[in-house]
Amino acid sequence: MRENESYTPRSMDQVLGCMIGGAVGDALGYAVEFMSYDSIVKEYGERGITRYRLDRHGVAEISDDTQMSLFTAAGILLGMTRGQMRGIMGRIDTYCHWTYLDWLHTQEWKSRHEDARVDSWLMDVSELYAQRAPGNTCLSALRSLEAGKEVRNNSCGCGGVMRTAPMALLSELHGYADGDKLYCDMCASEAARLTHEHPLGFIPSAILNDMLMQILEDDGRRLEDYVAEALQRLPEIVSREDEGKKYGDLWPDEIRKQGRLLGKALELAATDIEDHYAIESIGGGWTGHEALAIAVYSAARHRGSFEDAVVSCVNHSGDSDSTGAICGNIMGALLGRSAIPACFIDSLELRNVIEEIATGPVYRVHHQRIRSLRHSREEALEHEILRT
Ligand SMILES: [Mg+2]
Repeated sequence: MRENESYTPRSMDQVLGCMIGGAVGDALGYAVEFMSYDSIVKEYGERGITRYRLDRHGVAEISDDTQMSLFTAAGILLGMTRGQMRGIMGRIDTYCHWTYLDWLHTQEWKSRHEDARVDSWLMDVSELYAQRAPGNTCLSALRSLEAGKEVRNNSCGCGGVMRTAPMALLSELHGYADGDKLYCDMCASEAARLTHEHPLGFIPSAILNDMLMQILEDDGRRLEDYVAEALQRLPEIVSREDEGKKYGDLWPDEIRKQGRLLGKALELAATDIEDHYAIESIGGGWTGHEALAIAVYSAARHRGSFEDAVVSCVNHSGDSDSTGAICGNIMGALLGRSAIPACFIDSLELRNVIEEIATGPVYRVHHQRIRSLRHSREEALEHEILRT
């Protein structure tokens, strides 16, 4: 693991932009998640929703997409902190297993339950104990994991890819696996696969991770180039969970399907067709491959403006908060936090927590929690992590 040599002002702006941007898209879209395009226009006017719908305290609520992204970040930090403190760590996605169970805890309890196993400092953030239309696939898969049972589903929902972005950010910032994209893409994909077992539920995470890592390393190229490079690498990813077989041999049809849909999204972005028609011809975004393609469409169509891209990406009849979140991740990474209008940042729920987890050096973020554990509890934690 390298020192944090890549902490330049530009990269920090991009990392913050990616995390905050995702939360902005999520919060904007959450207000219209279950509305048809016609109902959105009827309620918010011709451009659809363009500003937050605030709660009675003046806060723009995030949904499960951002909540789970925070727990992805917490999982990575848990693993990396262990690596730095003990000189040993498992594969990075395996730590998300534990922090996603923490998220499940926030959905099932109103506050931290004293008997429950807790792995993340996020469990002290009271605002996270809130249900924001959590996905059933995530809930039921995590309940199985908590009970020590195998997860069995064939879901290709977008609940995996919507929470992926921190994997790229923290891998890049903290030099995980020395930036080996094939390996990091596999980790991102496996973190999604914890809850979504259909290839189109976890392959999009590998692509998004790859794109974001490329953007953070070199943001001078076109979005089309990042997509093309990610798709080129995809079949070469080696699945450690499938006897070392390559993705291209395991899931050729799904990879082709995702590639075709991303190609369609980029073609549509070069036309002057209205956004909502273009988006609805890609799909509703309820599945992982559609949500990624819709986000890529809006980012490519409105590449110069964070606001235009995200507004376009939430105003359709499908899964507005997830498509908005992924588009916000991409645009925030491309343009940086400084390109996000203040009106979207000021009232965003948990902004400080999102910023802290995105940028906090591993030790500072996590050592307090580890220190606060009772000795026996720490031993138990160490033991379980070692097994992963
Ligand atoms: Mg949501």
